[in-house]
Amino acid sequence: MQNTVGQQSMRATQHAKTATHCPYCAFQCGMLISGSHGQAAIAGNASFPVNKGALCIKGWNAAALLTHPDRLQTPLMRNADGVLVPVTWDEALAHIANSFVAIQQRYGKDAIGLFGSGSLTNEKAYLLGKFARVALGTSQIDYNGRFCMSSAAAASITAFGMDRGLPFPVEDIPHAKAILLVGSNIAETMPPLLQYFEAQRNNGGKLIVVDPRASITTRNAHLHLRLTPGSDAALANGLLHILIREGLVDQDYIHARTEGFEQVRGCVATYWPEQVERISGVPEAKLVQAAHMLGNARSAMILTARGAEQQSQGVNNTLAYINIALALGLVGRPHSGYGCLTGQGNGQGGREHGQKADQLPGYRKITDPAARQHIAAVWGIPENDIPGPGKSAYEMLDSLGQEDGVRGLLVVGSNIVVSAPRALHIQERLKALKMLVVSDFFLSETASLADVVLPSAQWAEEEGTMTNLEGRVIWRKRAFEPPPGVHTDIEILCSLACSLGKGQYFPLSEPRQIFEELRCASARGVADYSGITYEKIEANQGVFWPCPSEDHPGTKRLFQDHFPTPTGRAHFSVIRHQAPAEVPSPDYPLYLTTGRVLAQYQSGTQTQRVAQLREMAPEAQVEIHPTTAKSYGLVNSDTAKLTTPRGSALFTVKVTASIREDTVFVPFHWSGQQSVNRLTNPALDPTSRMPEFKVCAVRIERFEQSMEV
Ligand code: SF4
Repeated sequence: MQNTVGQQSMRATQHAKTATHCPYCAFQCGMLISGSHGQAAIAGNASFPVNKGALCIKGWNAAALLTHPDRLQTPLMRNADGVLVPVTWDEALAHIANSFVAIQQRYGKDAIGLFGSGSLTNEKAYLLGKFARVALGTSQIDYNGRFCMSSAAAASITAFGMDRGLPFPVEDIPHAKAILLVGSNIAETMPPLLQYFEAQRNNGGKLIVVDPRASITTRNAHLHLRLTPGSDAALANGLLHILIREGLVDQDYIHARTEGFEQVRGCVATYWPEQVERISGVPEAKLVQAAHMLGNARSAMILTARGAEQQSQGVNNTLAYINIALALGLVGRPHSGYGCLTGQGNGQGGREHGQKADQLPGYRKITDPAARQHIAAVWGIPENDIPGPGKSAYEMLDSLGQEDGVRGLLVVGSNIVVSAPRALHIQERLKALKMLVVSDFFLSETASLADVVLPSAQWAEEEGTMTNLEGRVIWRKRAFEPPPGVHTDIEILCSLACSLGKGQYFPLSEPRQIFEELRCASARGVADYSGITYEKIEANQGVFWPCPSEDHPGTKRLFQDHFPTPTGRAHFSVIRHQAPAEVPSPDYPLYLTTGRVLAQYQSGTQTQRVAQLREMAPEAQVEIHPTTAKSYGLVNSDTAKLTTPRGSALFTVKVTASIREDTVFVPFHWSGQQSVNRLTNPALDPTSRMPEFKVCAVRIERFEQSMEV
């Protein structure tokens, strides 16, 4: 068996100071790492133009995980007694390959699935997609970005013909005279981004925040629209109704650059402010005030995030906000536009290069014959060998172990047990697999269920490119060797391909080699990286895609002259308010909404292992309004039991007026009995297949020791 594992780890790459990027969110702060693997020091990189030296508490503490005692340093395999025991890499890889082959022989190619991540580098996301289609011949690949970015992506493609989270750089934010920020608490999720909003405020700009919850972000806003969960489309239509009524829309822009406005005008005509107030709970006076702030601004931005997007109406919600941006003539104008704030570290690049069920590299559609031909030529296989589209993330997870479902699953960089909706059900589905393989650097809740666990390298131990929330492709450099026994995901996938007899298609042990192939694969695609090189990234502090040739500077701002649609115009969409899939009822009388806190990240696998972060946020708290808490006899520090039709979980009570009386809020970073995703609703958006993480109905009661959970 040819085995590429270990080749890369033989090279020492320790530098006095390595300019790289944070392992966590999509702001991808520039940071400098110095010292040794065991005593790494982190500083903000003041010369990187996005974060300008600022880091949040998670970034400052990222090095604590490199030599954490929980770090996996050898492959683990479940023995006959059901215990995970150390094995060699050759034993682990041979067992995986033999099992995958046996499963596919018995159940067909699609019986093996892959689950990727928005935290993977572009090179790894590309390789995972190629591994699925070429090494395994399966259509069943999707990733956790489906839970994060898919609604905004689908809305942007519908409206503008393409999706790049921010079609302009963050340096434009300070110059916007008004910003409508929807469903985002950037003060906790992306604190270094705040400097741009502070500059905007100092320039006299106005900030309007739409959020059911008062947060640090809303406290700094000029106006807080505290909507009922699930009422975004009604709110957006109401704002557009007022803008049209008061003659604040840009008729010249609408005429010259868009289509479909008249139908939208007819639709929003019925969204009278008093009716919208009844649906959304936002007072009419505030709706009018917000419309005036936006409509009278010389430049304005509308930015959405997960609050509006993670709903079963997520695409429609986003399109309703985009309608406002188009009606005001913002998109493609200086210091203006619509954008979505991507969440995961490589949430942008991770959705461009083929780890999505319906997609090939370069943001190509897997059903497009020309795209299939192009990628087949790059991969050196017949076009017919590329499978068609597979199931979306939740649908694939729901199929695990079922008739016609996935029987063997490889998970790379994701902790499904904590991050999927209806988590108890998904946990049972994972247990029904014949073979679960997890590549991770800690024994996460998902890895602890696996048949084989592969210890993988962390961010500072491998290089690769990431694409930040602006569409800027950056180079995350390697600072240290991985610990002995730990291999990179690239080495693991290439070795597995060899074991599966497909090694000739994967002579790619180096990220640079993979990036060169990705450049060819993406050429002339929507997300065209063909003109980007590591050296060009280094020289320019990142390169914005599309960048179709090496002498092209990259594209900082999109849509200035035209939209990449068949007519060159942007599309308005007729959107009507529809209630969430689950609304409060006598049995479940409150709304439950979820989100993040400053000191933790995603499923907590990493951040809960950092003492300083754990001390700041040691447990999941349920935020309850004082009036609501009183009616349930709850006070601060009580334990509350929350129940939905999908399960129950326990949380420490935090009584606060920051949440609406009809809503409770819980962050989603915890597992076990504190896992809020045991409660969340997997109802899917019909277009994006995004689950409805942000709204469901819940019952709450004081927890007594005699109760079952
Ligand atoms: Fe890392 Fe995001 Fe914090 Fe920057 S804002 S340090 S990228 S987690």
